Amino acid sequence: MPLFINRDQMFAHQIHLLEHKLRSKEERILELETENAILHLRLAECLGKLRRDHEEETKAESHDQLQRSTHKITRSAVLKLLSGVQAVKQDLSEVFAVYVSFATELEEQSKKLLEKVEQTRSCLNGHRGDEFQDLQAHVAALERSLEEERERCRAEKQKRKELHNMLVELRGNIRVHCRVRPVLHFDHIQSSTSGSGPASSEEVVHAITDDSVMVNSLKTGMPMQNKMFEFERVHGPEDSQDAVFEEVKPLLTSLLDGYNVCIMAYGQTGSGKTHTMMGSQPPEEHSGMQQEAQQGIIPKAAAELFRLISEKPAESHTVEVSVVEVYNNEVFDLLAKNELGNVASHRRDVITTSSGVTQVTSLTYEPVRNASEVMQIIGSVLKLRAHCPTLIHTDSSRSHLIVTLNISSKSPNALALARKLQSAKMDMQRITHKEWWSPRCRRANPAARNASDKPYASSASSPCPSPSYSPCPSPRHSISQTPFRTRLQLVDLAGSECVGMSGVSGAALWEVSCINRSLSALSDVLGALAEQRPHVPYRNSKLTHLLQDAIGGDAKLLVMLCVSPTQRFITESLQSLGFGSRARQVQKEPPRRKNNTLKVK
Ligand code: ADP
Ligand code: MG
Repeated sequence: MPLFINRDQMFAHQIHLLEHKLRSKEERILELETENAILHLRLAECLGKLRRDHEEETKAESHDQLQRSTHKITRSAVLKLLSGVQAVKQDLSEVFAVYVSFATELEEQSKKLLEKVEQTRSCLNGHRGDEFQDLQAHVAALERSLEEERERCRAEKQKRKELHNMLVELRGNIRVHCRVRPVLHFDHIQSSTSGSGPASSEEVVHAITDDSVMVNSLKTGMPMQNKMFEFERVHGPEDSQDAVFEEVKPLLTSLLDGYNVCIMAYGQTGSGKTHTMMGSQPPEEHSGMQQEAQQGIIPKAAAELFRLISEKPAESHTVEVSVVEVYNNEVFDLLAKNELGNVASHRRDVITTSSGVTQVTSLTYEPVRNASEVMQIIGSVLKLRAHCPTLIHTDSSRSHLIVTLNISSKSPNALALARKLQSAKMDMQRITHKEWWSPRCRRANPAARNASDKPYASSASSPCPSPSYSPCPSPRHSISQTPFRTRLQLVDLAGSECVGMSGVSGAALWEVSCINRSLSALSDVLGALAEQRPHVPYRNSKLTHLLQDAIGGDAKLLVMLCVSPTQRFITESLQSLGFGSRARQVQKEPPRRKNNTLKVK
């Protein structure tokens, strides 16, 4: 290896060394710069801390200042309050002193009062104690006698009622019962004509006792007027169907005793005539008992009639039913059948026979054996009856419905037969001496005896032979054991109403006019009977002609007046009550029994 190192190599070596030094210096510079930056950061941190410390110091200083000033203010306020409390304390002690003086005074007063009460009590127990006991005994005695008087009054009232009924019967008066129905939903409809007058739903007709009705007439700007009406019986809104029927029941006993009976419901549309006569259908889910309770006079009367018949097993009775409606002044037989044997109403005529009996020609009678058969027949033909919805209620009947039950009775009773013979003998004697003559007894007249005197023409469907009907005793009747025949007529009249009130129009107007004309004909007939005019206009309407025997004849007639209680129907209610009063004034022929046996009481 050569020992000689050239200069270039030396230089290169030196450069290399220098470069190495430079690199290490640069690294050192980098390190120092990093250190420098770290020191800068630390310095900034220290400066920030110093600034924050300074700020906190200034804040604390200002807070101290604020606290010092607040303290000062609070102190002055507390001082003020203390002086106020001192003043209040002073006032309180003054008030307490006054209270103490009052309390002592009050205590003294109550002590005195208690002493006085004690004194009075001892006085009462002493001198007046006996007096007090005497008074108590007197009051008890008075109460007892009052109860006795009440009982006597009740008995007297009952006696008066019985006597009145007897008088009504003897004088041949028409009985009038009145039923005021409860307020119902359609009473609340304000009519367009009533304007600012009294509220239409105001209750103005009140059953005040069991025989009187009070009407409070309310008119705008007028003082209230009270009107009283008296009838044989008045039922209020709370009276049930049973209660109404209970008063009608005795008439059914009369039926089997030999009297003709007619029960007629009169009143304005919606006043409860059909409810009273037929009843209302309770909801389906109601029990049989409730359904029965809702039944009206017709089903209840049918049941009672068959019950009474069942109590007389020795006598034989046959019952047949007919159903007639008077619609637009025409009489329709609702049981008539067409060629196919189906029920189809047929027009019929009303005639008066030569014996003075009113009858419907070719009227259909159906034999019935119990009340449910009666109701089945009526139910099956009721759909044929003319109905029309009116503003008052949706099921308004537009015709008069007359259900008739004819009862033929035959008594095998020997005593009755003997009495029949005796009475027939007496009749014969009277007739020979012309003592018993009356226009209604034309059969006593030989000339009239031949005339046709069948009261009802029985249809082919009836198994009952047409009995010889006798409004008066006849020898033929009593000697042979011909059955006597009585008749129960149950009438549900169509409603009297103002055209404006019922809201009817068109063909229905004619219906309303026919209804109103027939009802005023009924009113005219009652007027003529009440005034005992020689001519009674029965023939002015088919209704009055058909009911002639019941209204003017010898039947027991009961008018069931149905009245709405509210101001809305006040005009119609007053009209109905007036009709009832007029009916009571009629003294028609006293009821006469159809059989000649004397009633054994
Ligand atoms: P009218 O035959 O006089 O036109 P309704 O007998 O059809 O009147 O009665 C009209 C409505 O009033 C029916 O819905 C009936 O159920 C109801 N109503 C009538 N009277 C009474 C009563 N006393 N109690 C309860 N509802 C009654
Ligand atoms: Mg009706």
